[in-house]
Amino acid sequence: MVRVKKIPQRMCVGCREMKNKKALIRVVKTPEDLVMIDTTGKKSGRGAYVCPDEHCLQQAIKSKGLEKSLKTKISPEIYNNLKEQLPKEPLPQNEP
Ligand SMILES: [Zn+2]
Repeated sequence: MVRVKKIPQRMCVGCREMKNKKALIRVVKTPEDLVMIDTTGKKSGRGAYVCPDEHCLQQAIKSKGLEKSLKTKISPEIYNNLKEQLPKEPLPQNEP
């Protein structure tokens, strides 16, 4: 057996491919049963991962991959927030 030092890999709930953890968006269910997007990767709780890719996100929504992985309901808000994490188009600047 060869031991290779590697960057931690996580599976995207959309495409089910193993990817570099840092390349994925982490969704976490906290011990209080709150679901949130963990941009720091440091929140405690159960985590699920999805690529920052609209296709993967749609797939995750359709297959309920996130819900299954976190064993909880995911509100549409969370999905909306996830969509905002996608680097497709720059977010509009909020006016003060
Ligand atoms: Zn993916």
